[in-house]
Amino acid sequence: MTPSGSVTREFPATELVGPYADGLDLPYWEGLRAGELRLQRCAACDLWIWGPRWMCGRCSTFDPDWVAVEPHGRVFSWSRTWHPFVPELAGDLPYITALVELPHAGGRRVLGLLAESGDTGIAIGDHVTGVIAQPSDAPWPLLRWRRVSASSEPGKEAQR
Ligand SMILES: [Zn+2]
Repeated sequence: MTPSGSVTREFPATELVGPYADGLDLPYWEGLRAGELRLQRCAACDLWIWGPRWMCGRCSTFDPDWVAVEPHGRVFSWSRTWHPFVPELAGDLPYITALVELPHAGGRRVLGLLAESGDTGIAIGDHVTGVIAQPSDAPWPLLRWRRVSASSEPGKEAQR
């Protein structure tokens, strides 16, 4: 359900779209091309890792695995941006950035934009699902988060 007043946007590309030159996050982008959200997981100690690292921060094992994760989570925090810090998103103001906690990845949190902008009614604790789309003007797909249901925890409504 999309609350009235919100806008589902095309996924505008930014200069930030795509892997870094060092290739560390390339499996993430390849995962999006394959229709998957992939995060790192240490094969030695099972720690979920995000953002990408060359080495596990807990046990110092190199080259953590990349594992597909169900793109479902809950909003841990969010903010609405009214200023065009990113020029490519200037036509989509205000946009919403969410910190999404992934229960299928040990509670690891990832940062991303909501697919909808404006008055989405987003709240901490809301359930969101990842949507992968290929912008026509970008070489790599983008992941955006879409609200699927409100938080079931009492008292969360007041944090909007
Ligand atoms: Zn480890």
